[in-house]
Amino acid sequence: TQRAEKCSGCGIKLQTEHKDQPGYLPEVALDRDPVICQRCFRIKNYNEASSVSVNQDEFLRLLSGVGEKNALVIHIVDIFDFEGSLISGLQRFVGNNPVILAVNKCDLLPKVTNWNKLRNWMQQRCKEEGLRTAEIVLCSAKRNQGFDRLLEAVTELRGERDVYVVGATNVGKSTLINRLISDYSDLEQELTTSRYPGTTLDTVKIPLDDGHYIIDTPGIVYPWRYSELVERQDLDAVMPANPLKPAVYQLNEGQTLFFGGLGRFDFVQGPHQSFTCFISGTLKIHRTKLERADSLYEDHRGEMLSPPGSDRMDKLPPWQRHEFRINKGSRSDLYISGLGWIKVNGIEGAVVAIHVPRGVKVLTRPSMI
Ligand code: GDP
Repeated sequence: TQRAEKCSGCGIKLQTEHKDQPGYLPEVALDRDPVICQRCFRIKNYNEASSVSVNQDEFLRLLSGVGEKNALVIHIVDIFDFEGSLISGLQRFVGNNPVILAVNKCDLLPKVTNWNKLRNWMQQRCKEEGLRTAEIVLCSAKRNQGFDRLLEAVTELRGERDVYVVGATNVGKSTLINRLISDYSDLEQELTTSRYPGTTLDTVKIPLDDGHYIIDTPGIVYPWRYSELVERQDLDAVMPANPLKPAVYQLNEGQTLFFGGLGRFDFVQGPHQSFTCFISGTLKIHRTKLERADSLYEDHRGEMLSPPGSDRMDKLPPWQRHEFRINKGSRSDLYISGLGWIKVNGIEGAVVAIHVPRGVKVLTRPSMI
């Protein structure tokens, strides 16, 4: 018999080799009738609207045209990696359509967080990025928090619009989509593949009861995030599973902190002061003297200074040093994409340096919390 070449759900070309790429389905599923890709199969079964991934260029190409449509855009970002997961240039593509910024994984912040202050901080950051937001919702897909507000905002802003959901990989988009499906479409009625009209490559249209659609776009891969760089085994060490416990270090100049074998912070110059590390609790922090740091790393990387373990060390690019001058009186974070941030509490000013694999995004920003 002739084998199907295209998914009868979304129309994408089928393939059985690359799980994380568009059109994947397991070999055995080729015998199903109708033949649909794994993603459509999952959506059909309400389990997991797992997204495929693309790079930013492909993504923006997919998105071009949204500006002329009547759309509501939900941009979902990861609070733990805000700058690393924010889609820069999004505003250009959405035109005058409203954007809801869903800030996910808020369960990771300490319980004492001042949420109003945080929301203002987000607003400020978005403004600097040139992104106009109709609404900023702090939420946690994992704890099911903030979703009521998010759904309210969607209801208020949706009108006659289709809802586009956009975000980087690993921000929690699948969970959100599933929640939207269950709130907006009729669960009693089975979604058959015939209800998925052919779509443009890589996006999946999920029909809602009122004739509009949720459009699930692929997750964008941002190569500067630690979560994209480390091997699977090390992912659990960088991505916190529990609320962050800020670790305060009182340091003198000439002291260094290692974050496992993934990064290093040097207090190069300045008066004695405290630095607060917001990183995953599973990552061990080692304090040492700056003058000894290079040799300590040479001697102990992959062992005492791990992850990554010795077998995976060489899969990461070599380290690069980034130096920053923190001005007197400024409260700043030294942010490392996907690894966390170090809050500089001192009102005294300091010269500091961050060492991370080449390509990892590092920057200073006004303190988030
Ligand atoms: P997607 O790639 O954007 O579709 O994201 P997933 O829904 O697959 O989630 C990516 C990772 O983030 C998984 O390890 C999830 O367990 C985790 N995750 C998703 N939502 C949350 C959340 O609200 N809080 C925390 N702490 N983790 C989350």
